[in-house]
Amino acid sequence: MGNSKKERFLKHQGQTSPFPFLLEVDHAKGSYIYTKDGKRYLDMIAGVAVNNIGHNHPKVVKAIHEQVDKHMHVMVYGEFVQDTPLDFAEKLTAVLPETLNTVYTVNSGTEANEAALKLAKRITGRKEIISCYGAYHGSTHGSLSVSSNEIKKKPFEPLLPGISFIHHNNLEELNQITEKTAALIIEPIQGDAGVRCASTEYMKALRKRCNDTGTQLIFDEIQCGMGRSGRLFAFEHFGVSPDILTLGKALGGGMPIGAFVSTKEKMDLLSHDPILGHITTFGGHPVICAAAAANLEVMSSIDFEEVERIGAFIELQIKRHTLVKEVRRVGLMFAVDMENDAIVGKVVENCLNAGLISFWFLSHPNSFRLSPPLTITNKEAIEATEIIITAMNDAM
Ligand code: PMP
Repeated sequence: MGNSKKERFLKHQGQTSPFPFLLEVDHAKGSYIYTKDGKRYLDMIAGVAVNNIGHNHPKVVKAIHEQVDKHMHVMVYGEFVQDTPLDFAEKLTAVLPETLNTVYTVNSGTEANEAALKLAKRITGRKEIISCYGAYHGSTHGSLSVSSNEIKKKPFEPLLPGISFIHHNNLEELNQITEKTAALIIEPIQGDAGVRCASTEYMKALRKRCNDTGTQLIFDEIQCGMGRSGRLFAFEHFGVSPDILTLGKALGGGMPIGAFVSTKEKMDLLSHDPILGHITTFGGHPVICAAAAANLEVMSSIDFEEVERIGAFIELQIKRHTLVKEVRRVGLMFAVDMENDAIVGKVVENCLNAGLISFWFLSHPNSFRLSPPLTITNKEAIEATEIIITAMNDAM
């Protein structure tokens, strides 16, 4: 066994697939990642919808430095009053509807969903949960149970009981939501299914059905939230808000955080009968919350008209190509469909060789994904489309 960094990575770090990208990262700034061999990559994935304000935003970096010099972890979540978690919670609730006024910070997207499912059971006293075909909600047992990819679930059974699935956008199936349903969990825009958007009619009917049956409506905006869809939150497109909102990925400006948000009355249920109904050691970590609060401040200056303009430009350039079957896009969240997964593989590889990072979907092998930073400039968008078009030409 040799001693290169790649070999050491493969030997000592747990792997997620037989085909890791294996870029050796040196540093990252704005829309670019720089590798140890001196190359520069235009990041059209943003860490899979994480670096929405670009890499290493100076305001986020400054907030982290300031907090790290004061203190890091001092106590488990929920016991001590600390400046940055409070600042973050106030800033987040200020941009959400009045019914989403209390935030509980956790460590990842999947943990936010786990907690949201528990909260819905605690609120309703019910046991059944409904999710949607095509959904991805995370990789831990509960979140995996409400995700729909059977191949990914099978080896890890038994998963949670009492879970069933309905089809996104199917109005008839809404009657499967009943007085026995604790929660309906849905990504308003499905990410890993290949950017599938719910219709406004569906979302309004779903909201009504949940109201009529007393079911908690959970929106998983871990991927489609935080500006990715061209609005700060995807639910703004539909004029419908959830009972419980889950967030993650881009929430921390590049630092790891998840959150679930609901009303004060509902959230308080996790603090009694039993007390400590949901606990976490590191949730609400002061350094992470400093980054998340700074991220929210930066997000407030994002020009969403410009995000839409750049999104439309990239879409127009790409969809003209003969290899492209369909482009599904909302804001700067793209799925580009091709004939088959082999062509997708070639395009992704050609892009990488030409200095651009694109990526696959978990459950949609015929498409590649793009989710660039929302701060991508005109010049970078032109550079991106030129590289992608050349990559597609070379894949023919
Ligand atoms: N929900 C959605 C919609 C996601 O896209 C993801 C991550 N891809 C998750 C949940 C899980 O988040 P995490 O990887 O932080 O656990």
